[in-house]
Amino acid sequence: MTKILNGNQLANEIKKEIVEDIKEKILKKNKRFPHLGIILTGNNYSSIKYVNNKIKECKNIGFKYTLIHLPKDSSEKEILNEINNMNKNPMIDGFIIQLPLEKHVNKNKIISSIDPKKDVDGFHPENIGKMILEMDSFFPATALGIITMLEKYNIQIKGKHSVVIGRSIIVGKPISILLSRNNLIGNSTVTIAHSKTPNIIYHTKKADIIVVAVGIPKFVTGEMIKNGSIIIDVGINNINETVIVGDVDFKSVYGKAAFVTPVPGGVGPMTRIMLLKNTLKAALNNR
Ligand code: NAD
Repeated sequence: MTKILNGNQLANEIKKEIVEDIKEKILKKNKRFPHLGIILTGNNYSSIKYVNNKIKECKNIGFKYTLIHLPKDSSEKEILNEINNMNKNPMIDGFIIQLPLEKHVNKNKIISSIDPKKDVDGFHPENIGKMILEMDSFFPATALGIITMLEKYNIQIKGKHSVVIGRSIIVGKPISILLSRNNLIGNSTVTIAHSKTPNIIYHTKKADIIVVAVGIPKFVTGEMIKNGSIIIDVGINNINETVIVGDVDFKSVYGKAAFVTPVPGGVGPMTRIMLLKNTLKAALNNR
């Protein structure tokens, strides 16, 4: 029997915890609601959708938000200028720059110019470094969402063999680090597979946990997994305006896996709520 890991339900529970924290740690001390900044460049369909979802979550929970929407052809200097404004603005607790950026922009230069104390996406080299050093920092939202999901469902990962498919800085790399760190939630043995890995099925067949973030519909199928494994599907593939599928062939793993995340309603809502959690953390740290 496969259990579905319900990201919507879990995100709602975490939302309630955040609301409680706001009451106790912010409003009782006469402080203002957390304020998230978002810088969006261009008109990428998925990016606009993700940003709208983030704004919706802010409104839902009472967070303030500021959206700066720059044109597609904005120069690096113009983007850096907006980042500088957000860095200096004491009313903004934390902010993100929605990725991907246009090709003419140096992504690493942009990310490195964010004040690490306001980097609620956790992509700044200082935060990535701290995560590797097992210091307190902002963890990238998707990786934090996955780890939190495993923890809340009491899924033991210590000693388990995890295969992460995908090595992006947004998902694959951070989740590999969090799964393997020497921590209460961690201590898994991690294999990272990517586009140059031959014979991926050799690895997935032996995996207790598979995290897949490749952006290819139905990439992981039932025949690639072993009985009783835990399947975390990060993929978001827009088939058309209304249909979204993950990187896992849900039907073929269902019945064979012990746990699986659905798409939609799995990792996505966890990612969005973790961004708010990081913003609350920034508000509590920085004020
Ligand atoms: P990316 O394009 O930056 O990285 C994709 C990774 O997949 C690369 O590391 C590449 O090496 C690997 N890959 C590509 N083809 C492969 C193949 N044939 N075999 C093995 N590995 C292969 O993508 P990303 O930003 O990591 O996102 C991946 C997916 O996750 C996308 O669908 C994206 O929309 C989704 N995503 C979802 C969330 C969420 O909250 N659910 C968050 C971020 C990204």
